Amino acid sequence: MERIASFTVDHTKLRPGLYLSRVDGDIVTYDLRFKRPNTGDLLSNAQLHSAEHLFATLLRNSERKDAVVYFGPMGCQTGFYLLVDGSKLSHQEVIWLLRQVCDQGALYAGPMPGKSERECGNYRNLDLDLARELCAYYGKLLSTWTVDKLAYET
Ligand code: ZN
Repeated sequence: MERIASFTVDHTKLRPGLYLSRVDGDIVTYDLRFKRPNTGDLLSNAQLHSAEHLFATLLRNSERKDAVVYFGPMGCQTGFYLLVDGSKLSHQEVIWLLRQVCDQGALYAGPMPGKSERECGNYRNLDLDLARELCAYYGKLLSTWTVDKLAYET
């Protein structure tokens, strides 16, 4: 079996931040790392799920929504993946978009998107406060992030 690219990243050196995970033609995958791997400091299922709903909704309602392919949580509970169409969005624009979404999310005052039995497979574990907190946390991290910092440390 071939080892998939994300397993070649040295997770012992990985700190919370935003990284370029892989490029497949026009599809660019970003690693939104919220927690330092293997420290036991994980996102809870409710945090992952709540932030997923809010981030995905804000990204898909943004002015760059046509470039957003996918947003979803990592199974290791330390972050999320964002896939975009790189022919429409540069790395710098992705940083700007994520900052904007984090700022919006931190102040979001509407109802939790998709919080109903019909819209979600586990709607009871959604908590808007958790989603807002994570938006504020990650927005602060991204406020000093630059394109240079997207490369994984080797
Ligand atoms: Zn859901």
